[in-house]
Amino acid sequence: MPELNQVSWQQLDASHHLHPFTDSRALQQKGARVIERGEGVYLWDSQGQRILDGMAGLWCVNLGYGRQELIEAAHQQLQQLPYYNLFFQTTHPPAARLAATLAGILPGNMQHVFFTGSGSECNDTVVRMVRHFWAQQGQPKRQVIISRKNAYHGSTLAGASLGGMKPMHAQGGLPLPDMVHIDQPYYFAEGQGMTPHEFGLERAGQLEQKILELGPERIAAFIGEPIQGAGGVIIPPASYWPEIQRICKKYDILLVVDEVICGFGRTGHWFASEYYGLEPDLLCMAKGITSGYIPLGAVAVGERVAHTLIAGGEFFHGYTYSGHPVACAVAQANIEVMQQEHIIERVHDDIGPYLQQRWASLASHPLVGETRGLGLVAALELVADKATQARYSESAGAGMICREHSLEMGLVMRAVGDTMIISPPLVITHQQVDELIDKARQTLDLTLSTLNNRQGKHHD
Ligand SMILES: *Cc1c(COP(=O)(O)O)cnc(C)c1O
Repeated sequence: MPELNQVSWQQLDASHHLHPFTDSRALQQKGARVIERGEGVYLWDSQGQRILDGMAGLWCVNLGYGRQELIEAAHQQLQQLPYYNLFFQTTHPPAARLAATLAGILPGNMQHVFFTGSGSECNDTVVRMVRHFWAQQGQPKRQVIISRKNAYHGSTLAGASLGGMKPMHAQGGLPLPDMVHIDQPYYFAEGQGMTPHEFGLERAGQLEQKILELGPERIAAFIGEPIQGAGGVIIPPASYWPEIQRICKKYDILLVVDEVICGFGRTGHWFASEYYGLEPDLLCMAKGITSGYIPLGAVAVGERVAHTLIAGGEFFHGYTYSGHPVACAVAQANIEVMQQEHIIERVHDDIGPYLQQRWASLASHPLVGETRGLGLVAALELVADKATQARYSESAGAGMICREHSLEMGLVMRAVGDTMIISPPLVITHQQVDELIDKARQTLDLTLSTLNNRQGKHHD
């Protein structure tokens, strides 16, 4: 097919392509944004506009676009062995090497990994693994997995069920049985009347209440993102995770952390479990593991569960592309570049604090009720009234307006309701952070005037 122009791409797309997480009717009317090229932290669309990718794709392009080390690793592995599976007593060097490399950077006593093709597949694996584990332990009644409202754990049946997104549950009769949800530790939205410390304890305390309500002998695991990503970069109060960990230990419940976003340097640590001092039994990773260059996921398994699984005979679970050799080779190269370039230290000591300091300066904007962040992930809350922190009505669509203005300015920010979030590539420079902040501030100005104009019109 010859090179097509933007309109032809949009037409082909509209005629034949059903998009993930997209309102297709709205898309048909305006046509999709066509992204053609990436380099470093920048994207170029089919109109030639340069866009600073403040979301690193979908939280994954941690080393930025166009890294030759990753491209070369894929190229070499495609020539050496483009595919072989890991079923039936077989391995290949890229999978064995990556498993060992991951064991070297994982927290605590995690020495084993199970490979998948995505974050969602990790969470499906988690469900099967924890139930299999408890059956092996002679406690087959332990089936229930407790999660949180507004959590995101992927889009397969198990992932969407573990997740706490109401609109996802409403399509298709989810959640699956024995997956229950407690309230989230979202202080800005739900913490009124409490200090952050009290609120963190209250929300963690709901885990204990739920365990007692359902019966500890029925609970298999608790799952949570250390920082909720898709839910709006929700950073729990400091009191939250230690209390969750304590309750899991008290009732002998497995702790599963979903680090699909937090892993691989996003918070200034290899994993956010280090930052929060967590000792998870299972840990999910994907996204940043290959900087998004090729799909891969992995579930890290702590020694207690690993020993039981190993002793328990065959685990009837696996994916054709579990530990795909090309994906493993790219992940290996990704981790090696991160080590050689001290990316974790850089996020922790330098560019993370710089971004957070600059991002916090947006808090003075009249539209902003709160800014928050850690490492290279951050959020701000759009409010209609700064003094009372009252939100705009849902119909005002403040977040969507802000997102559109941001793109006009040449910056990808994402809107979760009226929460604006960023998660830029970990290789972003100081100068590019300055550019991001300038564009974000101009975006807020434009958003405010659009909202004011529309409000004015309503009064007419
Ligand atoms: C993105 C995400 C997933 C799902 O990963 P996919 O690769 O899209 O299947 C799971 N958990 C978290 C925390 C995520 O952010």
